[in-house]
Amino acid sequence: MKEQNAIPTAAALLFLYVLTALTGCAPQQGAREARPTSDTIRAQPIRPNSAISEPVEVRILDVGQGDAILIRSAPAAGSAREEEHVALIDAGPANRIVGQLRALGVRHIDLLLASHNHADHIGGMDAILDSIPVRYYMDNGHPASTRIQQRVLERVEAKGVVYLQPRRRTLTVGSARLHVLPAPEGARSDDQNNRSLTVRLEVGRFQALLPGDAETELLNRLLETGEVPRVDVLKAAHHGSRNGVTPAWLSRTRPHVVAISLAENNSYGHPHERAMRYYCAGGRMVLRTDQEGDIIIRVDSAGTYTVQTERNRTVAPPAERGATTACSSYSAADTAAVEGR
Ligand SMILES: [Zn+2]
Repeated sequence: MKEQNAIPTAAALLFLYVLTALTGCAPQQGAREARPTSDTIRAQPIRPNSAISEPVEVRILDVGQGDAILIRSAPAAGSAREEEHVALIDAGPANRIVGQLRALGVRHIDLLLASHNHADHIGGMDAILDSIPVRYYMDNGHPASTRIQQRVLERVEAKGVVYLQPRRRTLTVGSARLHVLPAPEGARSDDQNNRSLTVRLEVGRFQALLPGDAETELLNRLLETGEVPRVDVLKAAHHGSRNGVTPAWLSRTRPHVVAISLAENNSYGHPHERAMRYYCAGGRMVLRTDQEGDIIIRVDSAGTYTVQTERNRTVAPPAERGATTACSSYSAADTAAVEGR
């Protein structure tokens, strides 16, 4: 994983923080991010490990009511690195994520990122930190205000994981570029959802947007930044909640695929019917983890992608998108009505 400015300019490069070179030395205990010495983090030699079939696999894990998104990138052919590059965005609500990761062959995590610090996103963090080597940790920078967050941050320090500041930055994880978009100023300090980190994932021409539990307030602020592009895949904000989507958000992002991470019969009423009408409009492929299990997106180096779900075992190329199980109860007339057509 290496880091670079999202928009490299000569002036910006002068102030570029670069990650500490780790070749041959362990990170400091409880290290906070250090001043630059190199912009490349070289792999520690670990046995060859490439369980994925494309250069990049994005897997929206079925973790029940919560979020966990696994991003893996195979080592480039001919590179010195033999192990996969691995990032995990959020860790679901519980320890069982460790078993899920192990079953998928995940043996290390380069970057562990918490979109925000609610238990349905960081509940599995401490178990991961106890079980799987992690190199870098990033959260939204909010001071610990709950026991679970405190526990996670203590683990980060105790395990010598390097804490990365949640500023606007681009992290390279193999062939994937993760553009971190911190929440613009303005949200109340205790409003975790509206202080979610958003990640824009880029592989070739492929783009995905992962906005944590952003609510309308944050979605609107992000739109104002001009940094929200048209994307191929959108992770529905806030588990398909009514406050996690707006017509303006969808008309800017124009996703072909919408992935919603949630538990069946959850007590929050997710996904909200109105949100589903928005998402299902326009023939989008809408997939829910409670119906499909894991949602797997495989991306080649040019950015061509396919979508497969764990439970149905069906490969669904975006070109053949259309009515999906999640949208079967929303007619074309219903969805047209919410889009104002
Ligand atoms: Zn959540």
